[in-house]
Amino acid sequence: MARIVHKYGGTSVAGVERIRAVAERVAAAHAQGHELAVVVSAMAGETDRLVGYCRELMPLPDGAEADVVVASGEQVTAGLLALALKARGVPARSWLGWQAPVTTSDAHGAARVLSITTTAMEAAMAAGEVAVVPGFQGATASGRVTTLGRGGSDTSAVALAAALQADECLIFTDVEGVFTTDPRIVPRARKLERISYEEMLELASVGAKVLHARSVELAMKHRVRLAVLSSFADAPGTWVVSEEDIVESQHITGVAYNRNEAKVTIVAVPDRPGAVAAIFGALADANINVDMIVQNIAHDRAFTDVTFTVPRTELVRARAVLEEARATIGFDRLIADESVVKVSVVGVGMKSHAGVAVTMFRALGERGINIQAITTSEIKISVLIAEEYLELAVRVLHSAYGLDAAA
Ligand code: ASP
Ligand code: MG
Repeated sequence: MARIVHKYGGTSVAGVERIRAVAERVAAAHAQGHELAVVVSAMAGETDRLVGYCRELMPLPDGAEADVVVASGEQVTAGLLALALKARGVPARSWLGWQAPVTTSDAHGAARVLSITTTAMEAAMAAGEVAVVPGFQGATASGRVTTLGRGGSDTSAVALAAALQADECLIFTDVEGVFTTDPRIVPRARKLERISYEEMLELASVGAKVLHARSVELAMKHRVRLAVLSSFADAPGTWVVSEEDIVESQHITGVAYNRNEAKVTIVAVPDRPGAVAAIFGALADANINVDMIVQNIAHDRAFTDVTFTVPRTELVRARAVLEEARATIGFDRLIADESVVKVSVVGVGMKSHAGVAVTMFRALGERGINIQAITTSEIKISVLIAEEYLELAVRVLHSAYGLDAAA
């Protein structure tokens, strides 16, 4: 007997037929004598629909009230799954975010889980009842409903697995696991049997959508045994494990991309101490995340150009904030380019192998793809390129690092 957390994503619970299929899978695990907690997302498309209602009434919606609205999608699927289980004779009950409770910070729309009280839930699970928990939602210490940010139900599942000290956390989704890259772009992408927490975290943060980045961070911190697998097939999936548990080490494990990028160049910034701080300070005050940064050498010994990227969805705000601070920063003009994408290669193998970066630059160069900015970490290299080359770049890199499956 084990204690297991399952999580089902939006496509897996889209409609009563699919919820019935989820109940069947949960019932099978229950019949084996496992203690089970099941975290669910809202039905696919539902959260977008709810966000849309809020924006229609208030273009920049009040966070606390918007959370009341968007958290409802998960309440519906949690109730429905509990019904589907009971209908087949499996004892079950729903535990809404405020009931457990899942206590979070008060950052509405992007709240962090602070603690989860599991005493009552554990007693019910030990007595054979399946705990059904809506993902994505929690409550502040003062009892207001919060949500964890888009895609946050993965994080709910991992946080719950950590709180329950579960033996494993299985994330059921509409793909069969973590692939070396997006199979829609590279049909010869391979499913990985294992990937390290560190690599998964980098991939999730550079655009691979399979897991919410924060969920991987939590799994790594609490050493949660985590797997990603399909809810539509009976295939083994991908385990996210510690680096020491990876036997075969490729130089590169995966290639990811992110289209939500915009490049901003601030032309003629005074080349003096504090100028760069003024730019990024203004953006930080507005809560806008800056990613890649390139500062060119000064021309005429007086001015320099600073280029950086922000999420494309934040460009309008970034531009407004910077134009407002133009006099203080003292720059000449701002050029924005929304037709850029970031392509990244990730792999723990690059820690111990030389020449990984040059393979990337050469492969792109040979195809005439110009690199506009570069950033690196210990296990990741990211380049900014023109959006029109996205598919080509991903394919070329996937081959260059020998990731293509045998034909
Ligand atoms: N329903 C939420 C969303 O669509 C959370 C999730 O599904 O992970 O972002
Ligand atoms: Mg998701």
